[in-house]
Amino acid sequence: MNSLSRSADARSPLVFDVHEMSRQAGTMKEISRSVPAPADLGVEMMRVPEGSPIALELRLQSVVEGIWVSGTADVELAGECSRCLTPLEDEASFDLEELFVHPDREADEDATFVVDERIDLEPALRDAVVLDLPFTPLCREDCAGLCTICGANLNDDPEHTHGEQVDPRWSTLLRVDTDDN
Ligand SMILES: [Zn+2]
Ligand SMILES: [Zn+2]
Repeated sequence: MNSLSRSADARSPLVFDVHEMSRQAGTMKEISRSVPAPADLGVEMMRVPEGSPIALELRLQSVVEGIWVSGTADVELAGECSRCLTPLEDEASFDLEELFVHPDREADEDATFVVDERIDLEPALRDAVVLDLPFTPLCREDCAGLCTICGANLNDDPEHTHGEQVDPRWSTLLRVDTDDN
């Protein structure tokens, strides 16, 4: 038992029992299942909604060092355009590859281990998702963003100008804003 390894929560849908997989290299198991997304999976402007279905297609292979996992996770995405804040929805497929080392084997400090005959895919999934998601997603490549004066969406109103004709209600608000600072 490797006391340094975080114990895998057997109730997590991303934890898989591998005890029935023989330590004989060559044993292989395919897993196809849908699991609910954990909380806080994503980046600030784009994330996998908590509880939304993640379709996992996994291949677990018993190799000499441990259990080699490869496959894909298909997810739903929700976020906002980083320029105009329009809600965005998308789908994405992430490749997963992770070696879970048997606890009695020598390995690097940052290696991932089999713990209590289980493997926890959540950290690998988080890494894959966070590395791949855009930090500044856009509703479209040339999104015009929001008017810095009144906050109007410039995609809806490309000819938008203020000139001298600022709506008096807005100019009052703006003055109040400035006075507050
Ligand atoms: Zn936009
Ligand atoms: Zn404006």
